[in-house]
Amino acid sequence: MTDEGVLNKRGRVDQLAVKRVGVIGGGQLAWMMADAAKKLGIELVVQTPSQDDPAVAIAHETIFAPVDDATATAQLAAQTDVVTFENEFVNLEALGHQDIDFRPRLETLKPLLDKYNQRCFLRECNLPTPQFWRLEDYSSPQFPIVLKTRRHGYDGQGTFIVRNQTDWEAILQTLKSCPLLVEEFIPFERELAAIAARSQTGEIVVYPIVETHQKHQVCHWVIAPADIPQSVAADVEAIARTILSRLEAVGIFGIEFFLTADQQVLVNEIAPRTHNSGHFTLDACVTSQFEQQLRAVSDLALGNPALKSGGAVMVNLLGYETAQNDYSEKRQRLAAIPKSVVHWYGKSQSRPGRKLGHVTVLLEAPSAAELHHQALTLTETIEAIWYEVPEQFS
Ligand code: ADP
Repeated sequence: MTDEGVLNKRGRVDQLAVKRVGVIGGGQLAWMMADAAKKLGIELVVQTPSQDDPAVAIAHETIFAPVDDATATAQLAAQTDVVTFENEFVNLEALGHQDIDFRPRLETLKPLLDKYNQRCFLRECNLPTPQFWRLEDYSSPQFPIVLKTRRHGYDGQGTFIVRNQTDWEAILQTLKSCPLLVEEFIPFERELAAIAARSQTGEIVVYPIVETHQKHQVCHWVIAPADIPQSVAADVEAIARTILSRLEAVGIFGIEFFLTADQQVLVNEIAPRTHNSGHFTLDACVTSQFEQQLRAVSDLALGNPALKSGGAVMVNLLGYETAQNDYSEKRQRLAAIPKSVVHWYGKSQSRPGRKLGHVTVLLEAPSAAELHHQALTLTETIEAIWYEVPEQFS
């Protein structure tokens, strides 16, 4: 296969079979597919609820509807060759009644959309994951313990680290109408993530393993590659490959891990789409995660996931106030950092915790430890510019 098309049996290049890709969800993840779509000659049609959603600006066409509106998805499918996901909060049951070429397939998504089912899937695959219970099957909590809403959790919303009986009862009271998952608290040393893609033919590529850093359960920064022993990177990569193979996945997946002090790797979460921990790939890798998703769902050969630089650090620009502000002065200061690229999602409204953009800085260093050190220094510089008074948000 080539960049332009698919090599047929006679060695000639056929026209791209997939010319229009439907994308369920129109947030920043769909917005960041724009350059890759242009490069590959693919038109994006987006299903998203609001005129203000970032990807509306780059979509060839938009169907304005919630992501779980299966009737709207049927319209999306009628206008496109294949349908993929930037947001997995779909109504699987309603979608299952339709004959649509979803990539990944609905069967792939099925074990993933509910966090309890996802943990069961990991256990069936014999992959390491925290101990877990349905709330109904759990009694006598040992603190700390983790409570999660089984569906629709993102950016830590729906994840609660509970430290005592009073908080346990208060949280249960607020969440009493939601199905809940209880999970062993892992006193991890670090969090890692792997971005991996699988094609229709079963080819798999895994990007360099990264370290992610969450504050209050929300990702603040990512360092690529993670400064971890080769054996840990190999474990993570092997787990990622097993997950994608078992799911017969097509497309790009983000997989989050806990690394414990004794170097055990546990799977935290699987996202069946592009992922925040892979944003560094836009500027730092030969093929970005966004291009890789389009390549995988369009029957193109997967691209090279290798880093183009020694490494990179990616820092999220999270809202820290409720305001209408494009923060142009701060963005200019961030853009002045050598080898930095600022990505601004064009959201008109800032709210605490909302992802408004991110900055990636390319790094070169003689050793992994030195690269890690440079990256940490840069996170401090960037967060000092962005949050101005960092402790307000630390
Ligand atoms: P979301 O789906 O909202 O991203 P996650 O389940 O990934 O939620 O949890 C968000 C963060 O909360 C994780 O990155 C981690 O920092 C923390 N966390 C989640 N589960 C556990 C756990 N079992 N033990 C310790 N920390 C956890």
